[in-house]
Amino acid sequence: MASTVRIIFFGTGGSWPSPDRNVISIGLQVDSEVLLFDCGEGTQRQMMHTNMSFMKIKRIFITHYHGDHFLGLAGLIQTMTLNDRKEPLEIYGPSRTVDILTNYLSLGYYSLTFPIKLYELEGGETLDFGDYTISTLKVAHPVPTLAYAFKEKDIPRIDKKKADKYRLDSKILEKLRKEGEIIHNGKRISIEDVRGGIRIGRKIVYSGDTAPIKEMEDFARDTDILIHEATVESSLEEKANQYGHSSARQAALIAKNARVGELLLVHISPRYKNTSSIEKEAKAIFPRSRVVRDLEEVVVKVRKNQGSL
Ligand SMILES: [Zn+2]
Ligand SMILES: [Zn+2]
Repeated sequence: MASTVRIIFFGTGGSWPSPDRNVISIGLQVDSEVLLFDCGEGTQRQMMHTNMSFMKIKRIFITHYHGDHFLGLAGLIQTMTLNDRKEPLEIYGPSRTVDILTNYLSLGYYSLTFPIKLYELEGGETLDFGDYTISTLKVAHPVPTLAYAFKEKDIPRIDKKKADKYRLDSKILEKLRKEGEIIHNGKRISIEDVRGGIRIGRKIVYSGDTAPIKEMEDFARDTDILIHEATVESSLEEKANQYGHSSARQAALIAKNARVGELLLVHISPRYKNTSSIEKEAKAIFPRSRVVRDLEEVVVKVRKNQGSL
């Protein structure tokens, strides 16, 4: 389990950039690894205003190929090349990822200094990356679009008293947690001998662009943080739904039914200079809601009150 999980919002606006909000991009740092969800134009410069390094991006997850969600990719990748990146970069996205990105990333004169691996997803997958998984859900938008769920794996919690009995230091405990069983001073010790319950991994869900859908409630069930689009307020929701978008009211209803820890609203239409009406209607339904701003950082803590196995 990671010691640090934090989110930085590089862009929180929808459709096109405005003086108040860049188009959408969300960074998720898991210890020293950075995952990027969407990459609207200008994302790399937004990152440079923060302490989350663009060179540490290991995987990028694109929700869909509307410009406000991916047009920052080519610039970011060319800058990585100019900084002599060698690490492979993985990019995941919905159907047509290979076709669209192969064309888009071949624009202009530059030679990559690192390999890019492209992966196409249909929705419904769970990808295992060791300490965490990424699951996908097909959502309701006019073009193929995915929502993503990051989930840290649950790990056994150690009972200190039991561990002290065997004289296990933290390094050996970590090995025991990983391997389930070790030989220590000639004695076989199982994780069950020192287990004191379970530490539930953190979960974060990002909706992408979507009209409200029932499936999101299951997908986001009990998530610590739901980042959901709220393009407009409820007075405009009928039209927004036709275009595959949600209102703040509808996002809040999903958060409430899914019993999430916190609802963070993004993809705000550039028509709103002031977002208090959006936030107010979400809070009326789900009090732990708010509209996030560009460059805002959220540290995701491990939940307390975790039950035993
Ligand atoms: Zn969008
Ligand atoms: Zn879109």
